[in-house]
Amino acid sequence: MLHIIFSLLISMHAPAASTNYSTVQDNLKRIAQENPTTTELISIGTSDAGEQINGLKIGNGETADLIVATHHGNEYGSTAVAVGAAESFAKNPIVGHTVYVIPVLNINGYNNRNRYERLPSGSLDQNRDYPGPCVTTKSFRSKSTKALADFIAEKNIVSSATLHTYWPAVLYPWGFSTNDVTTSYESTFINLAKAAVVESGYAVGNSKELLYAADGAFEDYAFWKHGVWSLLFEMGNSHNPSQSAMNQMVATNVPGLRRFIENAPKERAANHEFTGKCDYTRALQRTHLE
Ligand SMILES: [Zn+2]
Repeated sequence: MLHIIFSLLISMHAPAASTNYSTVQDNLKRIAQENPTTTELISIGTSDAGEQINGLKIGNGETADLIVATHHGNEYGSTAVAVGAAESFAKNPIVGHTVYVIPVLNINGYNNRNRYERLPSGSLDQNRDYPGPCVTTKSFRSKSTKALADFIAEKNIVSSATLHTYWPAVLYPWGFSTNDVTTSYESTFINLAKAAVVESGYAVGNSKELLYAADGAFEDYAFWKHGVWSLLFEMGNSHNPSQSAMNQMVATNVPGLRRFIENAPKERAANHEFTGKCDYTRALQRTHLE
């Protein structure tokens, strides 16, 4: 008996570093089995290494939304929040919405606790791999980012939350190399970001003003390409949160994710093109913080 209690305690307090992608997949399967009427396991494609990029489809509403975590493989706290959101939404789907949750985009980075995806051609930062108005390098070198881009187009994703650690802040476009950082929907984005931080108390702001410019990021791509209402969640205070810190991140961000999706417009933004100028003179590239 005692050893059972002891092993239960160990499993409850298992260091987060012991989780890997197969643990995440087991969690998704468990959530799907426990909520068969509201969920469906999905795959958005395969990575360069041949792993299935799996996720959960939750609900059957008309408006499609996305939560994606761990473009940066070492940011496992963001995967924990994505799985927490899947668990919560599966039990209580958002009326009128279908929410797709992809907890790990950078699978080999996640398994290796590495920010970068290891490709045959070298290491890649997935959140610099999307096209954009000021991108000067080759995009979609990773099959995983291309699969996600194809997925948001195919499913007509309307709102999207991309989850990272750490800052803490919830940020909106534009965040790339320009001084013209204001979209046509500044007040809408501010209101959506504020709705997302009621419980967490995180800062809200423009990606570049609050952080630094980054070209080729998913959060800008989704809005620029399609008019997706796109927020970047930089959660917590560490890339290495303890289990209790992760529980806290889940508890304070999942209600905000739900409120963001509920409050977002039901159609994509119409005026999503970038009309400003690229300016690389102040291009302080974001680095390890996010
Ligand atoms: Zn990140």
